[in-house]
Amino acid sequence: MDKNFLLLNLRNIPDFPKPGIQFKDVSTLFKNAECLRQIADETTERYRNKGITKVVGIESRGFVLGSILADRLNAGFVMCRKPGKLPAETRQYAFAKEYGTDTIEIHTDALNADDVVLIQDDLLATGGSAMAAIELVRSFGINKIFCNFIIELRCEGLKGREFIGNRADIDSLLTIEE
Ligand code: AMP
Repeated sequence: MDKNFLLLNLRNIPDFPKPGIQFKDVSTLFKNAECLRQIADETTERYRNKGITKVVGIESRGFVLGSILADRLNAGFVMCRKPGKLPAETRQYAFAKEYGTDTIEIHTDALNADDVVLIQDDLLATGGSAMAAIELVRSFGINKIFCNFIIELRCEGLKGREFIGNRADIDSLLTIEE
């Protein structure tokens, strides 16, 4: 994986969705076949021998790499979605974001206590979304949880890794200090 190549292809959108936010737009990585292949190859290698049985993708950008990983790791794929999108019985978790608040939910029959789970999302900022997904996964009695991000944003006010602490084994491909 060529980190500089990926960073050169990542689009930054200032002041989106509100003033002061530097939005890291991974759609420019996803649309580039070489970027997508490098991201998928590198992430697959990092989790190949972890015994992952389910990949949980956080809506919606976590669905892209998450489903590729599930296929390559011979694991199932589970969607963590915004409220009202999943049709069967769900459990929910509300959390604070870098901009605003949000709630995510997961089907109550999506996971089992013996699953080894990899949570995937495009970006770690405050860690609020990941923490919500971790809490949902933990509510199934699962303790072995990995979390993967394409980008880890770090600055004075953003310390997602510390926020999550030892609740999950965290890894990211690209760290951006701002
Ligand atoms: P957080 O819950 O604060 O860790 O925020 C992570 C979630 O919000 C991810 O699902 C990201 O897609 C999105 N997000 C937060 N901040 C940014 C940012 N600066 N650029 C792109 N996406 C972001």
